[in-house]
Amino acid sequence: MPAANDDWVARTASDVIAEASRRHPGVPPTCASGISPSGAVHLGNLRELMTPHLVADEVRRADHACRHILSWDDYDRFRRVPKGYPETFAEHVGRPLTSVPDPVGDCHRDWAEHFKAPLREALDRLGVQVTEISQTEMYTSGAYLDQIILAMRRRTDIGAIIRRYQTRQTEVDEEARADYYPFRPYCTTCGRDDTTVVAFDDDTTEITYTCACGARIGPVPIAEVGGKLVWKVDWPMRWAYERVTFEPAGVDHSSPGSSFTVGRHLVEDIFGGEMPLHFMYAFVGTQGQAKMSGSLGGAPTPKDALEIFEAPILRWLYARRRPEQSITLAFDDQVGRAYDEWDALTRKVTAGTAEPASVAIYTRSSSTAGGKLSQTPKPMPFGTLASIFDITAGDEDQELRILRDLTPEAPIESLDEVRPRLDCARAWVLGYLPEEKRTQIRDIPDEALLAGLTEQERHALKLLVDGMADNWSHQGMTTLVYGIPKLIRGLDISAPPTPELKVAQRAWFALLYGLLIGKDTGPRMPTLLLALGQDRVRRLLAV
Ligand SMILES: [Zn+2]
Repeated sequence: MPAANDDWVARTASDVIAEASRRHPGVPPTCASGISPSGAVHLGNLRELMTPHLVADEVRRADHACRHILSWDDYDRFRRVPKGYPETFAEHVGRPLTSVPDPVGDCHRDWAEHFKAPLREALDRLGVQVTEISQTEMYTSGAYLDQIILAMRRRTDIGAIIRRYQTRQTEVDEEARADYYPFRPYCTTCGRDDTTVVAFDDDTTEITYTCACGARIGPVPIAEVGGKLVWKVDWPMRWAYERVTFEPAGVDHSSPGSSFTVGRHLVEDIFGGEMPLHFMYAFVGTQGQAKMSGSLGGAPTPKDALEIFEAPILRWLYARRRPEQSITLAFDDQVGRAYDEWDALTRKVTAGTAEPASVAIYTRSSSTAGGKLSQTPKPMPFGTLASIFDITAGDEDQELRILRDLTPEAPIESLDEVRPRLDCARAWVLGYLPEEKRTQIRDIPDEALLAGLTEQERHALKLLVDGMADNWSHQGMTTLVYGIPKLIRGLDISAPPTPELKVAQRAWFALLYGLLIGKDTGPRMPTLLLALGQDRVRRLLAV
């Protein structure tokens, strides 16, 4: 684990370069990620990709070639039907993920591909460059045949190593058997791996197995049998095969007896390789639920996140945390705050006032070794864009008019200047902002509320309506609405705020929100008024 106060990305990258040249001089380092496409790939899994990516990208920035492999564990058995998918898929339990049909019809060639495709698309948008390796292709093409035969011939040694780290009795029972085999065939009759190897001939490499379906196959050459090494053996085999220099893992792999601990011995003693440099990274959680989840089964996926966060910002939400720090990605009303923090960082970096560590994180978030990621040309505050969309119900002409009014110095002339952030704000309002927090402009004036107004309140409303035409800009309306409580008290419009004035202003805003949208609070008042337009304001305030 890198020291707490250093730049873990830079440190790990230089370790990776040094280690790769020591192990295999002249061969570029390999950083590895492994993902099982057994269901929706969620934002926690994205850390499995972002962590090696940041390191691989740093190596590339230092002008070294670097391979970042994404090993798809698509030859793993289909363990269970994930929540939200038809139970009819239960008949496929035990088959490789690539032999199970697409879960929602025929949109992809198989179950695994259905979940790979959206992640691949998200990685592309995030600038995460990987070399994909399908374990189905590797195993079925015979790429690992030598390793499989080696593991089978040394099954007794492997069993002994695994046994040394056993913690749970059930595993001991399974793997302590004298006839332990580290390879599990997929049955040629039913396609499932409910199989038991009963014999393996070290000389002829012929295997015999039985299956729960009743089949008994063999002896046949193992080269002709579909199947894979058990996970604890498969992983270190691949470290050696791919010469993996760096592969971090989630904290769930850190326990004694985990595949990581056992793997260290297996890769050295059996496969003649070395353990990759590694450390553990902490969990990623999410906060705030989608109103209608895009992915069955709940938690937002990287693709969902990219509908809300611009790609550099999503990168930053991962890059700014050290591996041992957990990450919480907020989809609730904290989204605007993440954008505001990012914008503040951007301004500091541009002004040259950011700390070197912040600059490094900013650079890694906004660009890769391949170049800059695209960003919104005019990054208006996310909260403003969300309010504008909310108030106008997405009317583009109105949106543009308000945005132009908000930017008198250099008026926004086209919505493209605030894209993709505007689209992110729309997606957020539609997908995550609870209905009760959405702005509902009143259709008709609130007669009851209007009937109970005091003389002073009536006077204040008249000042607002009469002053609108001459102050119809964001700045002008800001000055006017904040100034009215002063004017009605005989103060100058530019008088400094006092505690008493602040109370009066709050009451005044509550009155306006009540008359315009039927609530005590709402979007920023100048934005709301500009969005409504003068005619509608005049009608609702009935002055
Ligand atoms: Zn079978």
